[in-house]
Parts: sequence; C-alpha cells; structure tokens
Amino acid sequence: MAHTLHIRRGGRIILLVIGIAISVFAARAAPAQQAPASAGPVSQQLIDDLVAANRILADQGVLDGWGHVSVRHPLDPNRYLLSRSRAPELVTADDIMEFDLDSNPVDAKGRDLYSERFIHGEIYKTRPDVMAVVHSHAPALIPFGITKTPLQPVYHRSAFISAGVPVFEIRERGGMTDMLIRDRALGHALADALGDHPAALMRGHGAVIVGPSIQRVVGRSIFLPLSATLQLQAAALGGQVTYLDAEEARKIEAREGYGLARSWEAWKRKAMAKP
Ligand code: MN
Repeated sequence: MAHTLHIRRGGRIILLVIGIAISVFAARAAPAQQAPASAGPVSQQLIDDLVAANRILADQGVLDGWGHVSVRHPLDPNRYLLSRSRAPELVTADDIMEFDLDSNPVDAKGRDLYSERFIHGEIYKTRPDVMAVVHSHAPALIPFGITKTPLQPVYHRSAFISAGVPVFEIRERGGMTDMLIRDRALGHALADALGDHPAALMRGHGAVIVGPSIQRVVGRSIFLPLSATLQLQAAALGGQVTYLDAEEARKIEAREGYGLARSWEAWKRKAMAKP
C-alpha cells in the first residue's frame, strides 16, 4: 500500500517536471511568431519604381492619404514590398518594408503598418500571375460599387476590364464591419471576389487593382477611375452607349504594355518634382 502510494507520488512528480519542461519549451517556442526571414535585397531600380508609383498615384488623385501600392519580391514569390503606414505622396525609399504573404513584416523596426496590408498578402497568395497590387479609394469608382450598374470598358484605356469588374460585398463574409480589410480572412475573401480579374470594387470603400508589373498596375489604377467618370458622363447624355467589343478589348489588351513607358516617364517626372 505504502509502496503504491510512493509510486503514485513519484509519478506525479514526473508529470509535474514534464509539465514545467513543456511550459518552458512553449515559452521559448512562442517567438515562433517571429519575424519571417528576408528574401534578400532588391535592386534600387525596383525600390525607386515603387516609390514613384506611390507619388504618381497620389499626384494623379488616385490614392488619398490611405491607399497603398505593393510589388511582389523578385527573388521570392512569398514576399512582397510595401511602404510603412504613410501617405503615398510622402513615401521614400526608407519607408519600403518587406512582408511575408501572411503580411508579417520582416523587420518592423517599430514602424506603424498599414492595417489593410492583408489585401496585398492574400492576393499574392491566390494570384501567382500578379506582381503588383494597388488599393485605392478613387471617388469615381464608388458609385459603381454601391449600385447595380456595372463598370464597362468605355474607351481604349480601360480595355482591360472587358471581362467585368466584380464587386466585393464585405457583409457577405464579415457581417457588419468598419469596412476595412483588417485581417487575413477578410483579405482572403476579397481575393476570392477578385478571382482572375484585373480589378474588383469594394462596396462603399474603394477598389483593388492588380497587374503584372508596377507600371501596368499604376496605368490601370489611373485609367479605371477615368473610365468610370466617362461612363457616368456618357450615361448622363442619355440614349444608347456603345462600349468596347470583347474583340476590340482583346486586340488592345495584347498591346497594353506598349507605349506605357512614355506615360510612366511623364507621370514620374511630374510626381517626383513635387517637394
Ligand atoms: Mn481602404
């Protein structure tokens, strides 16, 4: 009897020791929430292009103090580059940070992060073809996210939306929210709504525009709200409106990148000349 009791006590002590060992290990393992490793340095050219993209989109009235633009890391598809939380028109090379696709920063250095950065990480996860992402609140797009009137490709610069622009209804996936994409789940829901399209509207909030390069996504982000304004103006004239035919759009799309360097140079010079 006494012998059994002794064994039981011994067993409890062993369990206690194991318990302590596990909690010590868990405490040590906790920083497994550690910062992800860097995929390595990128070219100054890419950083300069990303800074220019921020300045251009602010200069063109596409981004306000809250929008953002990112680029996928050229050395690792599981990383992307995005500014720290800062108004796009003020972004400099020093503000550019690296994130993993869960939108954890590689080295936060105590800086504030965009609360909606999950938009970028979740789209890069689901769209291997996408190399750059813009999130904008361009006012001209808002009416098309809150009504049943779909955006149409009204002129050659918006041929890229020929297949339609889906509208993301955050209530369907998040219920009543403050409309922001504050976590991975909402980011994933938005990426889902985007599907394989080049853009999606976010009801009562803004839009997300994607592309195969910084230059292409900047061009699309500028031309999309212009197209929306033109569509509204055409509708105001009354009568039938002729949109681009799918075949016309395809032919334009095949050459979308051509000549963009010319616009990019001009947009960039104007935006970067600002103090
Ligand atoms: Mn937003």
